[in-house]
Amino acid sequence: MERIDHWINGRQTPGLSGRTSPVFNPATGATTHEVTLASLEEVDAAVAAAGAAFPVWRATSLAKRAEIFFRIQGLVDTHRKDIAAIVTSQHGKVLSDAEGEVARGLENIEFACGIPHLLKGGYTEQAATGVDVYSIRQPLGVVAGITPFNFPAMVPMWMFANAIACGNTFVLKPSEKDPSTAMYLAELMQEAGLPDGVFNVVQGDKIAVDRILEHPDVQAVSFVGSTPIAHYVYDTGTRNGKRVQALGGAKNHMVVLPDADIDMAADAAVSAAYGSAGERCMAVSVVVAVGDAADPLVDAINTRLGKITIGDGTNPDAEMGPLITREHRDKVATYLDAGREAGATIVADGREHPLYRGSEGFFLGVSLIDDVTTDMSVYTDEIFGPVLSMMRVATYEEAVSLVNDNPYGNGAAIYTRDGGAARRFVFDAQAGMVGVNVPIPVPVAYYSFGGWKASLFGDSHMYGPEGIHFFTRGKVITERWPDPATSHVDLGFPQTR
Ligand code: NAD
Repeated sequence: MERIDHWINGRQTPGLSGRTSPVFNPATGATTHEVTLASLEEVDAAVAAAGAAFPVWRATSLAKRAEIFFRIQGLVDTHRKDIAAIVTSQHGKVLSDAEGEVARGLENIEFACGIPHLLKGGYTEQAATGVDVYSIRQPLGVVAGITPFNFPAMVPMWMFANAIACGNTFVLKPSEKDPSTAMYLAELMQEAGLPDGVFNVVQGDKIAVDRILEHPDVQAVSFVGSTPIAHYVYDTGTRNGKRVQALGGAKNHMVVLPDADIDMAADAAVSAAYGSAGERCMAVSVVVAVGDAADPLVDAINTRLGKITIGDGTNPDAEMGPLITREHRDKVATYLDAGREAGATIVADGREHPLYRGSEGFFLGVSLIDDVTTDMSVYTDEIFGPVLSMMRVATYEEAVSLVNDNPYGNGAAIYTRDGGAARRFVFDAQAGMVGVNVPIPVPVAYYSFGGWKASLFGDSHMYGPEGIHFFTRGKVITERWPDPATSHVDLGFPQTR
C-alpha cells in the first residue's frame, strides 16, 4: 500500500513513528493509502527546518517574494484539474466542486502576489521638530496551520499564502483523512522556486497537533476544524504564549421571508445544504421559513431533491458525492430517527437512496426534516452531512432570535425582496458573514473570513487584510538625525511640541 509521507526541508521525508492511518476513496470504500502519523521528533524536525529557513526568507526582498508567488499562482492555475482530482479521490466531493475549491483557494495566492503593497507601512514627517515616525509590520517566524478534511486545498491556501508572503516560514498539519493535496501543493511550490524549508508538511493526528501547540519555536497557529478542537487549540496554544486563531463549526441559518422569490430561495437552499454532501462549514443546515413562506418552500425544495444525481465524484453527471468515512455517514444517518422520535417530520429520508445500502462507498441520499424545534439534536448539533432542517416561525423577530440565540455564528442568510428588511437583518444578525439573497457568503480573498461566537476563537479572521495582520507584528520607529544645534540634556518625558 502506498504511503503518504511528510514534506520537510524541500523533500519527501518518510515517517519513522511506525504509526499510520488509512486513507479511503469514499466513493468505493477502498483503502487507497496509509498516511504516516508524526512522532514528536518528526514535528520537531519540520519546525527546525522552518526555523533554519526563516532568516533568509524574511530577508528576501518583497519583489522576489512576489515573483515567486506569481509563479505559484501560475502553477496552481495550470494544475487546478490535477489538484481537484486528488481532492475528489480522498474527500469524495464531485470534481466540479473540487475545482471550485481550488479556484477559491487560488484567490488567496493571487491576493498574496500583492504583498509589496500589503506590507506598506505608515510614515509621519516632523512628528516633533526634526523627528519622523514610521511603522512597519514584520513576520513572526515559524508559524503553523492545522486544517480540516473538508477543504484540503482551499483552507491550507487561506493560511500559507499570506503567512509565507509576509516572510514567515510554515508548517502545515493537514487532515489525516485527505493528506495528499498538501503534498502536491508542496511540490508545486518547490517548482515555483520557494526555498527549501519555507513550506513544510507534517502528517499526523493529536500527537502532532499537541507538539505544535507546545513547541517553543512556533510563534502562531492558525486552525480550522470542529468547535471542540478549535476551543482546545485556542486554549492550549494561547496558554503556551502563541498567537492563535481557531475557526470552529457552524449551524448556518437561511431566513426566508414571505415576500421572497420561493423558487430562487429553494434553488439556493438545495445548493447550499447538499453541495459537498453538506460537509461545508458554510453549508445552510437550517432554513427558517417566516409565515406563509413555509408550505410552498417545503414543496419547492422537496421537488428539487429527487432530481439530484448522487454518485462517484469522478462521474461528470454526479452533483453530490459520498461522505468522508463510513463512520461519519452512519452517524449522520442516526439524526433522522432522532429527529422523528423528537417529533419532527421526515419529508425526505436519505437512507432510501439506492447507494446507501447498495454500495461500498460512503453514500447517503439527501434528507429534509420539517417542523424542527430548538430542543432537537438535529438542531443543536452540527450534523455536517446532507440533512436540511426546516423551522417555521411567525415573524421576522422570531427568525432573528433563532439566529442570534444559536451558539454558532459563522454565516447567516436572508431571502427577501424587501431592501429594508434585508438591511435590518444585516444590522441584527450575530454572525461573521451574512448573505442577502446569497446562501454561502464566503468572502472574496481581499476581505476576511470568520465567524462569531463558537465559530471562532481568537480575534482575527482568516485571510485577506486580517490574515496579513495575524501573520505579522507591528513596529513603530521614531527617528531623529544628528543635529548638534538642537541637542541638549533633558530629563523630562519626551514631548512632541
Ligand atoms: P476536526 O476538528 O476533527 O479536525 C481538524 C484538525 O484537527 C485535523 O487536522 C485533525 O487532525 C485535528 N484534530 C482532530 N482531533 C484532534 C484532537 N483531539 N486534538 C488535536 N487535534 C485534533 O474537524 P474535521 O472533521 O476535519 O472538519 C470538519 C469541521 O471543521 C466541521 O466542524 C466544520 O464546520 C469545521 N470547519 C470550519 C471552517 C470554518 O471556517 N469555520 C471551515 C471548514 C471546516
